[in-house]
Amino acid sequence: MNGHPSRDGWYTAGELDCFPVPPPRERPSRLVLLGAPGAGKGTQARLLCESLRACHLSTGDLFRAARDQCASSPAMRAAIEAMNRGELVPEELVIRMVRERASCLRCQGGFVLDGFPRNQRQAYALDEILADLNVALEAVVYLELPLEEIIARLSGRRTCVECRAVFHVSSNPPSRSDICDYCDGRLEQRTDDQPDAIRVRMQVFDAETLALVEFYERLGKLVRISARGTPEQIRDRVLQALDRNVSEITT
Ligand code: AMP
Repeated sequence: MNGHPSRDGWYTAGELDCFPVPPPRERPSRLVLLGAPGAGKGTQARLLCESLRACHLSTGDLFRAARDQCASSPAMRAAIEAMNRGELVPEELVIRMVRERASCLRCQGGFVLDGFPRNQRQAYALDEILADLNVALEAVVYLELPLEEIIARLSGRRTCVECRAVFHVSSNPPSRSDICDYCDGRLEQRTDDQPDAIRVRMQVFDAETLALVEFYERLGKLVRISARGTPEQIRDRVLQALDRNVSEITT
């Protein structure tokens, strides 16, 4: 996929190696992205991973992949139904899934974690997993955006069914309508980007995830970034705030 590691390790919980195996970095980026649904976490994760040559680790992608493959376990089917309604999936399952993928968190290529943690219990679990691996988070990037912009973004969002790249019908359109620029896959509107599901997801974010902003601020890990502007402007803002020199990293 686009010269990036295939993320096989993430999708198969380490049963398959990524291709290519990410080369070790002198200073691997280990980031968490926080933001309301529609704040642009998926797009930023992709751009940041390109710049930092890190791997995009999304828990939402794991559930969507399971749904596309018609997941057969009852626990996973229940998780997918919860996701389709815009609710969080049971956290024992999510935490177990992330724990099973510890090799991705330890990877010397670094990572951008998108969609996990989503509440306090998951944040404690992540802390524990990373401590066991002797890995430290570099920063938690919080993408901030006003509600009306969030709604506009979500309703125009389109996702590739193959590689999960994210586009937007007006602000980040694909070069061919409904076709992915990266892999020629079909673009679709996510089930949980329908209006009812969006409402539920915003409530879940306010009730559960917002508390993490304060939690990581207290730990001195939080980097607040305005998520207004083009995807590239936002990415540059993040890299600047992290004190990363893009040209040094991308060459
Ligand atoms: P996302 O792509 O991160 O917006 O995730 C899509 C959906 O997957 C969410 O609305 C949840 O239903 C589910 N999901 C993803 N990550 C988590 C998580 N860490 N905890 C609970 N549910 C999650």
